[in-house]
This record gives sequence, structure tokens and C-alpha cells, in this order.
Amino acid sequence: MSSTEILPRWDNTTEYPSFTSKEWAADLAEVKSTIAKIEANMKNFGPQLTNPQEPLPPQALEGMQETLFISSEGMIYLYNLSSYASFEFSLDSKNVEAEKMYSYLYKDLFSQFEIAMTPLNLFLSKTSDENFEKFFKAAKIKDYKFHYSRSRLKKDHMLSEKEEEIMSTLKKDGHTSWGNLYSSISSSARVKINHPSYPEPTSIAVAFGNTQGADESLRKASWEGIQNTWKDHQQTAAAIVNALAGWRHDVNHLRSTPTKKLDFLDEPLHSNRIKAETLTAMIEACSEYRPKIQAAAKTMAKYYGKKQLDPWDLVAPAPIKSMEGLTFKESFRQVKDAFTHMDPTFGEFAQMMLDKNWIDMSVRPNKRNGAYCGGFSKSRSPRVFMTFAGSSQNTSTLAHELGHAYHNWVMRDMSKISTMYTMSLAETASIFAEQTLFDHQITNAKTKDEVLDVYWSIAEGAVSLLLNIPTRFEFEKNFYEKRKAGYVNPDELTALMKDAYTKWYGDSLSQPDPMFWATKLHFSISGISFYNFPYTFGYLFSLSLYARKDEWGKDFSAKYTAILRDTGMMTAEDLIQKHLGEDITDKKFWMKALDTVAVKLEQFNKL
Ligand SMILES: [Zn+2]
Repeated sequence: MSSTEILPRWDNTTEYPSFTSKEWAADLAEVKSTIAKIEANMKNFGPQLTNPQEPLPPQALEGMQETLFISSEGMIYLYNLSSYASFEFSLDSKNVEAEKMYSYLYKDLFSQFEIAMTPLNLFLSKTSDENFEKFFKAAKIKDYKFHYSRSRLKKDHMLSEKEEEIMSTLKKDGHTSWGNLYSSISSSARVKINHPSYPEPTSIAVAFGNTQGADESLRKASWEGIQNTWKDHQQTAAAIVNALAGWRHDVNHLRSTPTKKLDFLDEPLHSNRIKAETLTAMIEACSEYRPKIQAAAKTMAKYYGKKQLDPWDLVAPAPIKSMEGLTFKESFRQVKDAFTHMDPTFGEFAQMMLDKNWIDMSVRPNKRNGAYCGGFSKSRSPRVFMTFAGSSQNTSTLAHELGHAYHNWVMRDMSKISTMYTMSLAETASIFAEQTLFDHQITNAKTKDEVLDVYWSIAEGAVSLLLNIPTRFEFEKNFYEKRKAGYVNPDELTALMKDAYTKWYGDSLSQPDPMFWATKLHFSISGISFYNFPYTFGYLFSLSLYARKDEWGKDFSAKYTAILRDTGMMTAEDLIQKHLGEDITDKKFWMKALDTVAVKLEQFNKL
């Protein structure tokens, strides 16, 4: 990055000039009045809501349909306000006003909204099929049906209203607190790094940052430091994962019926809208390709002058002088050219994002780390957030985030609820955009290092998504099984993690990452379990779409857009059957996607 280059900045004043503007006050008032309206309506429909099996009288039906409609309209305002507050906070983490607003919207208004809607949501889950069908005949809420029919799949597993209430009340200081405990340890614990540049202990975040750096001695010392820190906390870390898993087992037991037992994978499968057979097929396919991915990991090791990768190399950069010192102008041009080459509409979209000031690349003193894509729900306009430092990695991140933005953009005329895709499909457009960039960069590379830099990203992605993610899945599955029989102590957790590493990495890694069950936040999140397999799903699904681009030729644009538009309204199986005519419960689908990875890795090994 040249120091004189002016980096693009967001213009979010189109939504709200400030937190004190009349536009902000008006939208906030709109949300509050919606909540009041919902509460009043719920009182009017008391008799119907408490007897969900009774046929609905026409007047009540209409009123309840209207309530659902106004609630989703009100939500648009609430999302809009929240986006603005969170964006302002991202730009300046010291902005106290933004922080206060953000927390007020998230903690207070969202939960008030949810509590107000609970009776109607419960009614829609429990009511008769006849009522349900009638309910979603109304034109303005017709496309909400898929979303609510998903919740109905769980209706046999719901407890009484009182029991559900008790459970959510206890959850606050029970289940949820364990995840909070993890976060508080990981933000307050200190890491002693045995390296001259760290005479004093530092935070886990800083130590982790070092493991992504080019200096191997610092990477190793930081990795060891993190291991030791979590070893000191291993009893607590084990208590956390055991409590979370134990709670989930107990809840599943309570929700099970004599004819259908719930198990630990049911919830993650449901929330990702995929079938168990699909997950099995995908993992089995990955398993068959394991040697090929391990070979790529060994090639990566060779570049470091080693036979095997060490656990502190897994997130390290390519051992070459990568294309640093890139200007934003050049970086953007690469992305735009790659997109245009794929589909002129893509390229125009990227240019529009820049022209409208919907991309923020600026360097600011208190700006948050990382990159994301968000958006405003009133204007349905996406926003891309990141910080430009002139590395080639910034270019692929830009492509990735613009891919997300494009996904949201092509759905901008649809109702909010029908655009809510799950995690398994969330990365479709972003990974697609990255692949588009990589291919374009390889074709247009001028030096051998440029080619290697791109292949390195490809190999690192494959190792991470096809070895590391399956390792996490393997560990978590085995841990949940073992937890059924009782408490799993730190030594046992470490042994399970070692086994999972050995199984997936084979001899491509010098040693497992034994404390990964404690060092990785994903195993200790209260709100979600198995925060792993959807990544591999998204990656492989996106690659299978990418493989179709030539076959689709001039129809590509229309077909691709149609797929993206259906991601919030279908299960993954139905979506892929409809658009690709393929059965994802069949291993062959996944193997085809893996073949495309194998071809690229073969090129990498040859370099
Ligand atoms: Zn992403």
C-alpha cells in the first residue's frame, strides 16, 4: 500500500446521519410501536393461541396473519438500526455511543420482540396441519411458509409451555454461562512466550496472531505458550465442554419421544437444513481423499524445509516474499477483472460497491480487526468491511467478502425471511468468488512466486477444510459419544484429540495439537454445537458449482443467480437436486467436488 493512496471509506449517512438524528429516532419509535402492537394483538387472540388444534375463525386468522406480517416489517427496522450501530462500532471500537446502542438493540429490543412473538410462534409450531396450510395462503406472508414449516418438524419434541419457559429461564445462568466463562478466561488469561521479543506475558489473541506470522521461532514459542496457558486452565476448560455436552444430552433426552429419540447431531443437522445421510456421505468422501490432501500438506512442509508440518505451521503464510506493497487500486482491479471475466454482471457489481462507498478499506486508529460483509435491511444494500494492508491475502479477502455481498444483492427484492440461509450455504458465493480470483491470478501471473502464492492459498484452504475441519468433527462426535457415559476428564479429552489428529493428518503433521479441545473457542460456544462441518459443506458445494461454469456457458449468470436466490428457502438436498440434478446423500457428488481440489493440489505438488 502506498502511503499516499486514499482508501475507500463507507458512507452510511444514507441510512442515518447520526445516533441523534430524527431518522434514527423515527425508526426506533417504529420498532417500539410494532412491539406494542404485537403485544396487544396477542391478548386479542388469547383463546385461539392457547387452543392451537381448534379451527381458526376467519377474523382471528386474518388478525394473526397481519400480526406475523407487521412483526417481520418491524424486524426490518430493528435490523437496520442494529447494522448501523454495529458498523459504527466496528469503525471505532472506542465509540461509546455506538457500543451502548448496539447492546441496547441486541440485549433489550431483540429479546422484547422475541418474547412478544413467542405465543404466535408456538402456535404456528403446534397448530393442526389444516390451520397451518390456511395460515400461509395469505399472499403477503406466503413465502414465510418454508421457514415456519421447518420449526414444525420439531413440534413432537416440544415440552409444555411452562416447561419450555423453565428451561429457557434456567439456561441463562446454566448453559449460557459456561460459554461466557470460556470467553472470559480466553480474554483474561496471559501467555508466557519464550521468545526475546516477549519479555512480559501477553494475551491469547496476540499469541495466536503470532502463529500466523512468518517468523517460525516466534510461531513455535507462541504455540507452546498457548498450550501451556490452557494446560493451567485445563480442569476449567474440561468442565465447560462437559457441561455444554451434558446439558445438550439431557435436553435431548427430555425432548425425545417413545418413537423418536433425539441425539446430539439432530440439532446441528436441523439448523443447517441437511440430512444425516448427507453429512455421512460428505465425511466418507473426504476420508477417501485424505492421502491426497496429506500429500499437499507435505508439499507445504517442503517449502518450509521440513518433512512434515508442525502444528504451529497450520495457519502460517507462504514462505516466500508474497506480493506485498500492493496498492488498493491494483488489488481491486485484479478482483474486478477476475469477476468480469467470469460474468460481466459480477464485475459491474464490484464497481458499483466501490462507487457507492459500500466498501470500507480504511486504516483507522480504533478500527476492529478482521473482515466481514453486512448490510442494511431497509435499503437492502450490502457493506464490506476490512482493512487494507497491501498483501495478496487482502485481495482474496476482498473477493471473498464481495462474493457474500453479491449473494445478498441478488436477493434484495425478496422478503427478509426467505433470504435467511443457514451456515451450510452461507459460504457458497464467497468461496466461489475466491476461486474465480485464484484462477484469474494463475492465468495472469507474471512470476513463479506469484503462481506459488495463489497455489499456496489453495493448498492451505484444502488442508484446513479437508483435514482440520474433519478432525474437529471427529473429535466432537467421539467426545459426545463418550460423554453419554459420564464426565470426560482433561487427559481423556487430550487423548481423543490426538486420535482425531492422527486419523486425519496421518504423517503429514509432526505431532497433534493435543490441547485443541481447549484452545479452540468453537467447542465451547453455548449457542451452537458442531460448529465445524458446515464449513466443509460450503467449500465443497461451492467448488461443485464452480465446476459447472463452463458447462453452463452463457446461461451461467441466470443459473447461478437462481441458485443463490433459493438458498434461504430450501433444504440443501432440495436445492442441489433442483438446480444441479444431483443427490448429495450420495458420496459421488462429494467426490466430484474433491476431484477438482485434487487436480489443483497436483499442480501445487508439481511446482
Ligand atoms: Zn465468509
